[in-house]
Amino acid sequence: MPTSNILNADLHCHSVVSDGTLTPETLAERAKTNGVELWALTDHDEIGGQQRAAAAAKALGLPYLTGTEISVTFAGETVHIVGLGFDPDDAAMLQGLHNTRGGREQRAREMSDSLDKAGIHGAYEGALKFVGNPELISRTHFARFLVESGVCRETNEVFRKYLTEGKPGYVPHRWATLQNAVSWITQAQGIAVIAHPGRYNFTPNEEYALFTDFKAHGGQGVEVVTGSHTKAEYLKYAETAKEFGLAASRGSDFHSPDESHTDLGALPLLPGDLTPVWELLADRIR
Ligand code: AMP
Ligand code: MN
Ligand code: MN
Ligand code: MN
Repeated sequence: MPTSNILNADLHCHSVVSDGTLTPETLAERAKTNGVELWALTDHDEIGGQQRAAAAAKALGLPYLTGTEISVTFAGETVHIVGLGFDPDDAAMLQGLHNTRGGREQRAREMSDSLDKAGIHGAYEGALKFVGNPELISRTHFARFLVESGVCRETNEVFRKYLTEGKPGYVPHRWATLQNAVSWITQAQGIAVIAHPGRYNFTPNEEYALFTDFKAHGGQGVEVVTGSHTKAEYLKYAETAKEFGLAASRGSDFHSPDESHTDLGALPLLPGDLTPVWELLADRIR
């Protein structure tokens, strides 16, 4: 297998084990069909789908890395840290992810109460119908319910009108710390990667602090080419990767054929002058 920047690697997507709509097996087939050459399933705060994903990939002859996307609170904002190539049986990692999932149930009930006051009733029960993993009720499931019930036309609109800071269905939440998330991943022999840095509403100083602290905690990678970035952001974060000496990752962040505008394997390649994260993970590929 070629280990270079021209590899069609897709190291970020979601299944029904978190807030995607496809099973790990269907995602593996879709990745293979779309020409993906190295794949990772990265469900939010959860690695319960890893065995299924790895087995499905193996049956298809698709090289695979273990993955997850951990929710972190940094400088008052939610930041996502992708973990790749870790040992999926690591006890501290499993416990850390379990604890991170812990607050979702209570948060969902508060979101529902808040939506109720805004005139949208039964949102908790409505969202539950879309949930594949009872420990992982997410804003995405609420968004699907609000689309199904005709409140909004698409999930993006739901987030804009209801599920983001300052809007009626938004409930602030405290996730894992940056240090904890990075240590769980690295102590399980994985590589920690800052997910879609272009999505956060940080000031330049806060963003600099994120990258500096992430490095200090042992983080080694950053997503440069992702479905969440514009072309200008590919260039910006390619520079950031070089500035901080981070390896670069690439992933669609695919959730659903009906909702995601970037399909598995459909992104531009990584710029040629960056070190791909898969070069650091060559011995972890299965
Ligand atoms: P949660 O972890 O419950 O806070 O949900 C976060 C998830 O919501 C993300 O992983 C995305 O899948 C989804 N999401 C966040 N913002 C948007 C948006 N503007 N449009 C569509 N989906 C979004
Ligand atoms: Mn998601
Ligand atoms: Mn994310
Ligand atoms: Mn994601």
